[in-house]
Amino acid sequence: MSSTGLYLDGVSVVFDGFRALNNLSLIVEPGELRAIIGPNGAGKTTMMDVITGKTRPTKGIVRFHDTDLTRMDEASIATMGIGRKFQKPTVFDALTVFENLELALKAPRGPIPCIRWKLNSESRGKIDSIMAEIGLSERVQDRAGLLSHGQKQWLEIGMLLAQDPQLLLVDEPVAGMTDHETELTSTLLRGIAGTRSVVVVEHDLEFVRALGSRVTVLHEGSVLSEGSIDHVQNDPRVIEVYLGR
Ligand code: ADP
Ligand code: MG
Repeated sequence: MSSTGLYLDGVSVVFDGFRALNNLSLIVEPGELRAIIGPNGAGKTTMMDVITGKTRPTKGIVRFHDTDLTRMDEASIATMGIGRKFQKPTVFDALTVFENLELALKAPRGPIPCIRWKLNSESRGKIDSIMAEIGLSERVQDRAGLLSHGQKQWLEIGMLLAQDPQLLLVDEPVAGMTDHETELTSTLLRGIAGTRSVVVVEHDLEFVRALGSRVTVLHEGSVLSEGSIDHVQNDPRVIEVYLGR
């Protein structure tokens, strides 16, 4: 079997008789950037919960690089290189930008930090390159608490990058950001993809357009439409259930 990146086939999640996901199928190639849009309650967050092992599918196949994720717990899925960024940033305000990244680098993709870890030149170089990637090189020694909302979001993305993810899941990254921060975030995510797969859930269609990626529209737990932003924005079914309202 070839390595397919992220592969979901016929995935359903039923909560007390309610179908949050309904026969959902989706493939995200290695290195692909994919945007997911859709009305509230469409199942976007539940889809991420299924990929990260937080929610077990009622039925269906969920694989990453041919590994069956439905048999793994959340910690093992994180360890295999699937990182998730939630809406609310969880950086440590009292620590500097550098220290936050250092902490993320120490944690071997898991919740338990390694006590014996020492900062060597290789790790320092890695932190430097991540700071450049997330545009925070000038803020190295500033406490994270002093960063703007947008900068905190980037720092958290940087903390995920420190763990060398192969797949990054990002839920509504630009909510609350300024227009300028939103623009920089699309550039950042485009840069992160390529060597890693990135799945972004977002409502801001201008931002989604700037991502320049394939777009999947979810509705009632399954794929309603998929293609370029122009394709989905002109799809009458998408206009009816999502854009037209
Ligand atoms: P989206 O992120 O697209 O807005 P969600 O995945 O959060 O949608 O939710 C899809 C549907 O599943 C919603 O109707 C929501 O109320 C329901 N749902 C999500 N999680 C649970 C849960 N743990 N128990 C019951 N219903 C849930
Ligand atoms: Mg959601």
